[in-house]
Amino acid sequence: MKAAIFQQAHQPLTLEDVQQQAPAADEVLVRTVCSGVCHSDMHFVDGAWEMPLPTVLGHEAAGVVESVGADVSYVKPGDHVIMSFRPFCGRCYYCLRGEPHLCNDPNLDARAASRLSWNGGPVLQFANVGSFAESMVTTESGVVKIPDEMPMAEAALIGCGVMTGVGAALYTAQVPGGAVTAVVGCGGIGLNVIQGCEIAGASQIIAVDVVPGKLDMATRFGATHTVNAAETDPVAAVQELTGGAGVEYAFEAIGNTDAARQVFDMVRAGGTAVIVGMMPMNSEISVPGPAFLQEKKLIGSMYGSTRFREHMPKLVDMFLQGRLNLSGLVSERMPLEKVNDAFDLMRSGKVARSVLDINPI
Ligand SMILES: [Zn+2]
Ligand SMILES: [Zn+2]
Repeated sequence: MKAAIFQQAHQPLTLEDVQQQAPAADEVLVRTVCSGVCHSDMHFVDGAWEMPLPTVLGHEAAGVVESVGADVSYVKPGDHVIMSFRPFCGRCYYCLRGEPHLCNDPNLDARAASRLSWNGGPVLQFANVGSFAESMVTTESGVVKIPDEMPMAEAALIGCGVMTGVGAALYTAQVPGGAVTAVVGCGGIGLNVIQGCEIAGASQIIAVDVVPGKLDMATRFGATHTVNAAETDPVAAVQELTGGAGVEYAFEAIGNTDAARQVFDMVRAGGTAVIVGMMPMNSEISVPGPAFLQEKKLIGSMYGSTRFREHMPKLVDMFLQGRLNLSGLVSERMPLEKVNDAFDLMRSGKVARSVLDINPI
């Protein structure tokens, strides 16, 4: 099957013929229909993060089950699925306490490193998915079944950006109705944190970015106020918009340590700062120690703290009811061959998401 291979940082991906193992007894083979191109993919291409190479990137995808192993009962050939980039073992400490998104079973990662080969050597499936490819093999726990009427580009986005962003508000922070909130960074993740706060019923959603076009998008996704951090100090602006108090919940959705400090400074006493963005490798975040006497909380969020099979179908339902904006996130669509152009578009800051149409149905 054809796959875009990432061989070296700062170099374009190349389209190659890759060998793929047939699914094992507890695995499924999924024909990739759509894959989003996410910032996390680009962090590796741009050298901010490192991984074993060569790798097939892509981790935000939807497809159709082509075949299943003998022990698989959750899906059958023909089922439409969203790929989860955190397959879970179902047996470990995290799985048993209802936090499958934190499952760190090393066996799953080992399998993701051994299913593909090219040029006589192994190729890694990034994040257990590797969706810049015509097909993907994953464990039964790595897919979430969705109804056939769900459009595939929109479904793909639930696989990373939407679940991560909406989930950060609904499930990590558990934003209550009427909450006073701010979101720093209005890209693919930040827009979804904004709509998560809106779904939660926040009374104030202050969007912060340095690109005016992204602030316009933020307003369309539910922001009640916008702050251009290129023109004004965002912490002071947020304080002014909240009568000097600061917000109850602030979200960092870039992966930038300065922005992390800003969200901490934006929350009022007792408030919660949530780091959603992927911070650079080896980075550190510094915050003032005495602020903890005000019971300020600084917390992380992984994959929106999702329990995949419960939460992803709920997001699908909300989309089908017209209460979750997914189509507005899809800025560009292109074939797999154009994946490098998708990265260029992302670097330009002009798109929320590019979606690759790999095997259109
Ligand atoms: Zn992602
Ligand atoms: Zn587990």
